[in-house]
Amino acid sequence: MDAKDLLKKVKEDNIKFISYQFIDVLGSVKSVDAPIDQLEGALENGVWFDGSSVEGFARIQESDMHLRIDPETYAVLPWTPPELKRARVFCDIYHPDGTPFAGDPRGSLKRALQKLKDERGWTYNVGPEPEFFLFRRNGTESIRPVPHDVGGYFDFSPNDEAVRVRTELMEALNKMGLEVEVGHHEVALGQHEIDFRFADALRTADNVVTLKYTVKAIAAQHGLIASFMPKPIFGINGSGMHCHQSLFDKEGNNLFFAENDPFHLSPIAYGFIAGQLAHARALSAVVAPTVNSYKRLVPGYEAPVYVGWAQINRSALIRIPRYTPGMHKATRAELRCPDPSCNPYLAFNAMLKAALDGIDRQLTPPEPLNNVNVYEMDAAERRERGVAELPGSLRQALEELEKDEVIQSAFSSSLYEAFVRAKWTEWDEFRTQVSDWEIERFLETA
Ligand code: GLU
Ligand code: MG
Ligand code: MG
Repeated sequence: MDAKDLLKKVKEDNIKFISYQFIDVLGSVKSVDAPIDQLEGALENGVWFDGSSVEGFARIQESDMHLRIDPETYAVLPWTPPELKRARVFCDIYHPDGTPFAGDPRGSLKRALQKLKDERGWTYNVGPEPEFFLFRRNGTESIRPVPHDVGGYFDFSPNDEAVRVRTELMEALNKMGLEVEVGHHEVALGQHEIDFRFADALRTADNVVTLKYTVKAIAAQHGLIASFMPKPIFGINGSGMHCHQSLFDKEGNNLFFAENDPFHLSPIAYGFIAGQLAHARALSAVVAPTVNSYKRLVPGYEAPVYVGWAQINRSALIRIPRYTPGMHKATRAELRCPDPSCNPYLAFNAMLKAALDGIDRQLTPPEPLNNVNVYEMDAAERRERGVAELPGSLRQALEELEKDEVIQSAFSSSLYEAFVRAKWTEWDEFRTQVSDWEIERFLETA
């Protein structure tokens, strides 16, 4: 779709307002809104905005920013009423002098993918599995959310409600161009997953952002809270965002596929896997970037804890789904540590950097962890097999990031500074809190 098509489309769709959207370093969506008659001028001249109050952009000399519309990303927001019908477009951020702004995570990923195409002729594909909870507020007394499809509420049929909301979500996401493949209830009560078709990493990152705000908006219409927090409830499964990945060449052939390998994996695929394993500890800081992420990455809840790979083993960090004869395109590596609190643009960029390092240095992965439950191995066994652990906290992950130049290369210097500053602040705030658990444990006994 080009500018002309876009102008035609907004007329056909009867759009009244347009949101020019962009993403900050932490993955939050920012929006500049305008009546639709402003669109033509904006397509020609871009949109000016003051970037000085946006996280990661806040240098005084960078206050004047310029948004350039990416017409391909046009989508109608299905929850807006007809008289205020709104659409969104994602934008790339530029300096007033026309150079790309290095603090723009979306623009950075776009440029990294373009480089991959120019230099190697490759496309990096990602298909994510975002999980989330639907919660209902527990009366006015307590603001603590509870899963909304547990029984015990007055006169409504809780399970039906969950399915109805999810169906509505899938319909909305399809209308927004996501090609939903499956929606299902997850392991925990109140937990759901909606998977959509894989695409190149930029389109997928746009889709993740779209999915998150659409799920939240439509849940809110039902009086529910949708949460992508990685571990909202102690003692039950958290919400991950496993990412299925592959590399295609210019003709659309899957570079991961090899006919004569026991796992049907090519040397490129092995290098890719080995690179992500080698950088897994630093990569965690980007793909599992909140203090809460590390409460998910603990043994026993189908989330990875140890650095290893396997075919069909839910305790491994990278899983190779079983090969279906003839389905070359589907050969892929599923990285299981990402969670939906990440900034998908930074996360996919960092995942790609780790993988390319493995490919370029021709690293080979260790023995696969097939038929072993790593959760059940003791520390000595793990050491013997060379199975490292993922970081146990955001602090450990940040320390790893600070040592890993390959993962750092996914960031421009302004993005890196802003990210690390925000994350250390988050860690410091967290570590000085006094939790309910501590009160229960120590108030009377200490
Ligand atoms: N909820 C699990 C996680 O946190 C994943 C469950 C699944 O395998 O889909 O990663
Ligand atoms: Mg799942
Ligand atoms: Mg999965």
